[in-house]
Amino acid sequence: MTTVIAIANQKGGVGKTTSAINLGTALAATGSRVLLIDLDPQGNASTGLGIGHSQRQRSSYDVLIGSSTVSQATVPTKVPRLDLMPATVDLSGAEIELVDFDARTHRLDLALKGSTGSWDIILIDCPPSLGLLTINAMVAADALLVPLQCEFFALEGLSQLLSTVERIRSRFNPGLSILGVALTMYDRRNRLTEQVSTDVRAVLGSVVFQTVIPRNVRLSEAPSHGLPALIYDHRCSGSEAYMALAREMIQRLPRAAAAA
Ligand code: ADP
Ligand code: MG
Repeated sequence: MTTVIAIANQKGGVGKTTSAINLGTALAATGSRVLLIDLDPQGNASTGLGIGHSQRQRSSYDVLIGSSTVSQATVPTKVPRLDLMPATVDLSGAEIELVDFDARTHRLDLALKGSTGSWDIILIDCPPSLGLLTINAMVAADALLVPLQCEFFALEGLSQLLSTVERIRSRFNPGLSILGVALTMYDRRNRLTEQVSTDVRAVLGSVVFQTVIPRNVRLSEAPSHGLPALIYDHRCSGSEAYMALAREMIQRLPRAAAAA
């Protein structure tokens, strides 16, 4: 059984891609077979995993429009047990192109259901919008992981995200759950961070993961080396936090998804 988790937040720069890369690596390290789907036309997850443009002959765009199967569009990464479905800039036109397609909200879901790949966990790195790409991810997903940056406007926009989830549940995917909200770029020296964290926990309760991801320069350096932080520097505070978050995630997943 495969569990599909969409990493979504329509705000840009909140840590979606950093979380996708490092949680994918952490989950693979614990023995799960993981596929990371890059669904952002910027392709940052692909670049951050060292998959250059020449290795992106097939991509998530081809899968969405039906010109490639999931397996054909998937490449191995340097991380054992972690595969990637890369993104190319073609994806930026997909929102418009897909409007004329049948079942345009279910393209990714149908492709994954018809796939012969054997992954325990599929993570989807969503673009910073609530458009058709993110909707495809939410229709295909069993659960959502929402990174939330510890800043003053952290909760702003969350109600829009949650009402999109409600709409997807009632129309397409009643089983869509929220696996958790992960606080990112946590800065212990900043009192505002503490305040935001307290407020977010007061509003959202136990859906917020206990683990927080610290602001850590190693996390932002690693992608320029084409490596997950967990490989670039597995002892930095950011890597340790993502390992802890992955463990917390596994505890929240249905047992079948937690391999090994
Ligand atoms: P998103 O995918 O939501 O747009 P990213 O994961 O790309 O967000 O993060 C935005 C920027 O912040 C990137 O430059 C990334 O390297 C950096 N970043 C993300 N998380 C952290 C963190 N915990 N500490 C320091 N820098 C971070
Ligand atoms: Mg991103």
